[in-house]
This record gives sequence, structure tokens and C-alpha cells, in this order.
Amino acid sequence: MTPLIDEKVEPILKEVLDRNPGEVEFHQAVREVLESLGPVLVKHPEFAEHKIIERICEPERQIIFRVPWVDDKGNVQINRGFRVEFNSALGPYKGGLRFHPSVYLGIIKFLGFEQVFKNALSGLPIGGGKGGSDFDPKGKSDAEVMRFCQSFMTELYRHIGEHTDVPAGDIGVGGREIGYMFGQYKRITNRWEAGVMTGKGLDWGGSLVRTEATGYGAAFFVDEMLKVRNDSFEGKTCVVSGSGNVAIYTMEKIDELGGKTVACSDSNGYIYDEKGIDLELVKQIKEIERRRISTYIDVHKDAKYIAKGNIWEIPCQVAMPSATQNEINGKDAILLLKNGCIAVGEGANMPTTPKGVKAFLEAEIAYGPGKAANAGGVATSALEMQQNARRDSWTFKHTENRLREIMQTIHQNCYETAEEFGTPGNYVNGANCAGFIKVAKAMVAFGVI
Ligand code: GLU
Repeated sequence: MTPLIDEKVEPILKEVLDRNPGEVEFHQAVREVLESLGPVLVKHPEFAEHKIIERICEPERQIIFRVPWVDDKGNVQINRGFRVEFNSALGPYKGGLRFHPSVYLGIIKFLGFEQVFKNALSGLPIGGGKGGSDFDPKGKSDAEVMRFCQSFMTELYRHIGEHTDVPAGDIGVGGREIGYMFGQYKRITNRWEAGVMTGKGLDWGGSLVRTEATGYGAAFFVDEMLKVRNDSFEGKTCVVSGSGNVAIYTMEKIDELGGKTVACSDSNGYIYDEKGIDLELVKQIKEIERRRISTYIDVHKDAKYIAKGNIWEIPCQVAMPSATQNEINGKDAILLLKNGCIAVGEGANMPTTPKGVKAFLEAEIAYGPGKAANAGGVATSALEMQQNARRDSWTFKHTENRLREIMQTIHQNCYETAEEFGTPGNYVNGANCAGFIKVAKAMVAFGVI
């Protein structure tokens, strides 16, 4: 079921691995895409002739910089900043910034690489990029986060712009951080350039639905996969890992579509609440108080908190990993399947290891990979850019309808492409091939650049 790597693609993969030593997450992301591409090269020999795969695996530009800042005690701290401008064939580089201690070049490159195909699938005019820092916002004061963001932007500003590169949020970067960075960009450049960043506040150029978009979009995508199987969220028990922005709005939409989420988590442990997760409380804890999810049981004494537990042990029909990369391994996937899981929609980027993906594909469940299922976030960023360009702002309803249509189109495109290349129902192949073909055609048109 899982495709073996095509003999024409194999040496290209080997070269990418050799040229980028130690970047294991990047290797994983490249391998997964390249494994799908054999049949595409048969249909489009011009892509091989133009060395599209080789070119697509090499970022157009990679920026690494020092980010010095002063903490509340007066000590100088130094972090490392990144922006990988991966591919601009379809539009300005577009993708989030991640602030997390695990960040290094290999993480940013995997995210940037995935972003290229995800953004292509969105059908909107955006290229792919990603950035971030090994800065850990956890436990930092507001003033420290502000000083860090200002220092980060003091270098980044010269590389970005509404027609060049448009950053947004990712793990560790939300409305507060975007505010500090946008403010610093405005100050340095003396330009009120709304289109340079997305995920902005609603009072200063942001779009309604952007906050909710990744989670809502992921739930819409699962809804589409279920519809194909004459099924729906109605009455389904769901598990959503994470409790950040993606997880919260995934749970909100699951509720609206008739499902019930019984577990969510943070990096310390998970909550199991048989009655259904109290979303208002999670929002209060995570969005307002910025506290740990363990405090949930202070209010709901009958819920359970399992410190360091594995959330995938909880039986569910729908699993939506919405925390981080590689959070579902082969064993977790097998356990989920054994417990009756019939659908997986990835709100996070690459949350399933290759062994886990293999298990889901072999079981032929409805498995929506991140680059398709979580594309609603970046798609709504592109809608924010459209509103900014017209100095306009749309209603919640209108924007959500656009998001839903986009997710339906992405689903259909992946579904049909999977069939076209001989692997019906395999959304991994569908997403990889459809995204790749779109970018590749543009690159062929542009000549060797
Ligand atoms: N970080 C998000 C993603 O992984 C959103 C990026 C954006 O809105 O530019 O797609």
C-alpha cells in the first residue's frame, strides 16, 4: 500500500539527505513527498528534464541571524533566528514563525518544505516559507517577550514585505507576538504595511476567522472525508492533542458538527473528561491565564489529569493530532486503530511518524495529512492579505464560508488526484502530487531560475 520509492526519485532523495546532514525532520518531510512522485514523473517527463524535484528541495534563500535581548534581570540573552524562504513560484513566501526551544534549521526546513505544497493546495497565490527561533516563550514575562520580538524583527524586517515574504504565527507565536513584531516593523520601516504579516489583531488589519481557521479547517476536512464514506461527526468520540490555538478551535468545530471531544493535552500531560471537554474553561486557562492544562481538574473534579500520559490510549473514533511533529508513532497508530479509530485529521504539521502513516494507510481509514487538513490556517492568512490589499474587512460568516469552500476544494483535489495516480483514498499521495504538480508547472514556465 505505501509506495516504494521510484528508481528515478531515489538518487535525488539520496542527494538531498547527503547535502543536508543531521536535519532529520527535513529528511522525513522530503522522503514522504518524494515517495509519492514516481507516477507524476511518468505523466510529466518534463519535470525530470527541468530538474524540478532537485530544485524544489533546495530553499531559494535561508537566513540565520543572532537575536540578542535583555531579560528582566538585566542579563543579555542570545537566541538564533531563522527564515527559510523556500519557494516563491506561486506567490510571496508565506508561512509562520515558530518560537520553541526545539527549533533549529532542520525543523524550519521541514516546515518550510511542507508549506510549499500546503500553500499550493490552498489554490491561493502564496509561495512557501517558514521561520522562527529557539527562544522559549514559556515562563517569560510580557516585557521579555516584547524585547525578544523587537530584536527578532530588527533583523527580519529587511527580508520581508507584502510582495516578498509574509510571516505569521505558529507554535509559540500568537496575537501578542505578532503585535510586537508588526509594531517594530512599522517603526523601523515607517510604513503601515498591513500585508507584511498575517494573524494581526482585529483592530489593526487582522481578519475575522484567522484565529479559528486552522482548527475549523481541519474539522471541515475530516467532515469531507467522512462524507465520502457516508458518515459524519454526529455522535463520534474524538481525541484532540494539544490545547493551543489549533486544538481549541478544532474542538469548537467538532462540537458544532455533532462530535464530542473527550481528551486534550499540553506538553506535560493530558485531560480526560468523559462528559466532553469544557471548551470555555480550556480557553480561559490557555488563552487568558496562560497556565497549564492540569489546572482543568481544579474546576472539573470528576475529570482525570494524566501527567506524562499518552493521549492516544484513549479510545476514539476520530483522532486529531494538533500539538507538534511526530506525536503519533507506529505503536500509537496501531493502538488507535485497535480502539476503533476510523478517521485522523492532522491539525499539526507532520504529527505522525512514517510508521504511523503506514499503519493508517494500510488500515485504509480516512487519513488526512497535515499539508491538506491544516491548510485552512494559511488559506485564511491569504484571505487576510486579500482584505488588506483592498483595505476591506469581511464578516465572520463570509470569511468562514470561504474557508469551508477552500477546504472542500482541497479535499476534492486530493481525492481526485489520489485516484488519478492509482491510489484511491490515499490523501497522502493526493496532497503530495496535487501540490507538487501546481508548483512544478509554474517552475517550468519560469525557466531555470
Ligand atoms: N503556521 C501555520 C501553518 O503551519 C500558518 C502559516 C500562515 O498563516 O502563514 O500553516
